[in-house]
Amino acid sequence: TSYGFREVADGEKQSLVNDVFHKVAKRYDIMNDVMSAGLHRAWKEAMVASLNPRRDPSYRALDVAGGTGDIAFRIVEASGRQAHVTVLDINGSMLGVGAERAEKKGLSPNLDFVEANAESLPFEANSFDAYTIAFGIRNVPHIDVALKEAYRVLKRGGRLLVLEFSEVEMPLLDTFYDQWSFKAIPQFGKMITGDAEPYRYLVESIRKFPNQRDFATMISEAGFSRVNFTNYTGGIAALHSGWKL
Ligand code: SAM
Repeated sequence: TSYGFREVADGEKQSLVNDVFHKVAKRYDIMNDVMSAGLHRAWKEAMVASLNPRRDPSYRALDVAGGTGDIAFRIVEASGRQAHVTVLDINGSMLGVGAERAEKKGLSPNLDFVEANAESLPFEANSFDAYTIAFGIRNVPHIDVALKEAYRVLKRGGRLLVLEFSEVEMPLLDTFYDQWSFKAIPQFGKMITGDAEPYRYLVESIRKFPNQRDFATMISEAGFSRVNFTNYTGGIAALHSGWKL
């Protein structure tokens, strides 16, 4: 369904996205709980359980579009505080909140924060054991470019995990979900940040994102092997996985 949101060019898309996250950075974590009714926590837990990071100080993960650190913190904890995780985001405001949270949790020694674009990663080839991105790839203007970068920076034997909103595959849930996302989410956005429009844009971007199968094909096209996906909550979110072999 299109609710008439106008088409935006790639450059404009990135700056719209940047505006949204600069505005919400401080309230981002609360917004997530409200808008997903807390579900994002369970999805993130499942993602990191699936990654199952080694308890090994040489284990290196890159969490792209890492925002305020939710995935990175979980990876560090799941590794018994052994792994090192680089949190990369295009938005310094989000990273600032992440760094503060890391400090409070005592996780700073296991983390670093890098402000950069997913389409052009400032790392050498074959650097990471894992590349994770949660609710981020949808915001990147050139998804194919971001996936190629993911492939480049992973070591051979490295794993890609992408958590993203996807196509709801349950008949009643999809009707409810449409009401929730097109009506409730922009309202919440307005209540919490004073502006509904950025949230309309984000909801629209979920509808434009490729479905589970098409996205799996894109991941294979970037060079990944053994690509598959798991639906969470009837497909509201999906976890895609691939290996650099
Ligand atoms: N991964 C975190 C989580 O799950 O809570 C944050 C997700 S948040 C919905 C999306 C993040 O993507 C924002 O922090 C935003 O700044 C970042 N982002 C958007 N475009 C990006 C790009 N081209 N490169 C890197 N990060 C980007």
